[in-house]
Amino acid sequence: MAVQTVAGTTQSAASPSPGSADPHEDATGDKSFGPAAALSCRECGTRFPLSPVFACQECFGPLEVAYDLPLGDPEGLRRRIEAGPANIWRYAPLLPVPAGVAERPNLNPGWTKLVRADNLARELGVTGGLHIKDDSGNPTHSFKDRVVAIALEAARAFGLTTLSCSSTGNLAGAVGAAAARAGLRSCVFIPADLEAPKVVMAAVYGGELVAIEGTYDDVNRFCSELIGDPVGEGWGFVNVNLRPYYGEGSKTLAYEIAEQLGWRLPDNLVVPIASGSQLTKIDKGLKELIALGLVADKPYRIYGAQAEGCSPVSAAFKAGHDVVRPVKPDTIAKSLAIGNPADGPYVLDIARRTGGAVEDVTDEQIVAAIRLLARTEGIFAETAGGVTVGVLRKLIESGQLDPAEETVVLNTGDGLKTLDAVAGTGPTATIRPTLAAFREAGLA
Ligand SMILES: *Cc1c(COP(=O)(O)O)cnc(C)c1O
Ligand SMILES: [Zn+2]
Repeated sequence: MAVQTVAGTTQSAASPSPGSADPHEDATGDKSFGPAAALSCRECGTRFPLSPVFACQECFGPLEVAYDLPLGDPEGLRRRIEAGPANIWRYAPLLPVPAGVAERPNLNPGWTKLVRADNLARELGVTGGLHIKDDSGNPTHSFKDRVVAIALEAARAFGLTTLSCSSTGNLAGAVGAAAARAGLRSCVFIPADLEAPKVVMAAVYGGELVAIEGTYDDVNRFCSELIGDPVGEGWGFVNVNLRPYYGEGSKTLAYEIAEQLGWRLPDNLVVPIASGSQLTKIDKGLKELIALGLVADKPYRIYGAQAEGCSPVSAAFKAGHDVVRPVKPDTIAKSLAIGNPADGPYVLDIARRTGGAVEDVTDEQIVAAIRLLARTEGIFAETAGGVTVGVLRKLIESGQLDPAEETVVLNTGDGLKTLDAVAGTGPTATIRPTLAAFREAGLA
């Protein structure tokens, strides 16, 4: 089988700087990271050895994992994937994880349902086919189990002993659970004003939970300080110093959607944006599938979805800007409430390059969309799912998304975590247990 290097970005710019070690020497032979070859800078292409770093030493650009992917035998690769376990490890040949990863203690996330949403399609006038990729079915009920599973393997490979994160809510629970199962210490950081179920989930797995008085962006800044301090030695912050590995977990969403559609790509994907990592890596995954010959090459559009109360990327998209101006979040979609999204500029680039868009919806529209999805498809989404479904509706109504095309919308979290969003939802009637009372209530 021919092996060629596929980097996330241009390889031509990669000229190792004087003084930096040749990454290939370190990377080859290290089987801790499977097919991963190096870290590669998204901006300048410089390569670095696989290590717990996240910024380029040359230009401070974000680093991502580059691979020696198994090109040249798509049929064989497809068969190997299909014979794998019903979780993200079926894609281990395309992830920075060691062989036998499925047998190591972890939460085995992924392979969540792709639901054909005909009722919702009818309500929204979609005729080209509509699917919900429902990631509420993951072990801690959000898509975050995917990214944590990969970051956990990196933490193990680097000998880090404390798993940590700055979280908008779901990540804290995912880290706590994964660390508990793997026998690692965990200490996670959240903004103090989170939804109660997310606080409970962040604490129940027995790790340490620290609530910070401030926004997510304050929490994130604090965590960056911790990493630079001796206190943070041996700590793996899944979304900070392990961010390149963490991001790779999101690729599995792209792989699963394509495989569940019968190894082909949809026309449109509607993806929520917090930091923008998920959207960026879904695009990376789709490009890899095409490069590997696992799906036919065809155009696809990626649409980003934000809440109006935290819509810095949407605002930049609409204004035609390349730069994302930070905002102070104020929305019920707390899992997406990142005012200074690290991957914002890449999201803008992907939305524009693929012919998609970035759109936002109000809190009222989020709630209406949660109810619409529940009523039409029996899926109870958290506020982030209300954002994507609400944005889908808005994109169709404004003519930005063609309803005659096939669309996949992501639901990334479980409605039980954001019950307050649908407060006031309750019994149609409260009655004594008699037939007379039931008739009186007008329900007979
Ligand atoms: C974290 C999260 C996202 C996406 O986050 P990114 O930082 O953009 O990768 C989406 N939905 C939910 C529910 C989340 O918790
Ligand atoms: Zn660089």
